[in-house]
Amino acid sequence: MFFLWGKKSGDEILDRGFINCPRCRTRQPAVVTKYVERRHIYFIPITRQESPEKVRCEGCGSYFANDEQTAFGHAAKMPDWSCFKCGKPVPHDRVDCPHCGFRFTT
Ligand SMILES: [Zn+2]
Ligand SMILES: [Zn+2]
Repeated sequence: MFFLWGKKSGDEILDRGFINCPRCRTRQPAVVTKYVERRHIYFIPITRQESPEKVRCEGCGSYFANDEQTAFGHAAKMPDWSCFKCGKPVPHDRVDCPHCGFRFTT
């Protein structure tokens, strides 16, 4: 009997966008990836193992968890907040409103 075993593995790209890269300390193009390992016999898939989703910074090539810190999104710039007090747009990286001085507490 001859079995043809195979193993194919690699990153699967799920989405493309931008993250706040903790290493580059700036918003960078990034991809959401999942490491997938497939085993097959005669090219019939038997098992498929996946690791949790990660985001990969295209700037430095580092992998990070897909969470609030990296804030993956399709916009190159983080969307502005609306000030809770005056309702005007506030840049995302600010913690106080440049219009009325209202401080956001987190
Ligand atoms: Zn980076
Ligand atoms: Zn305000």
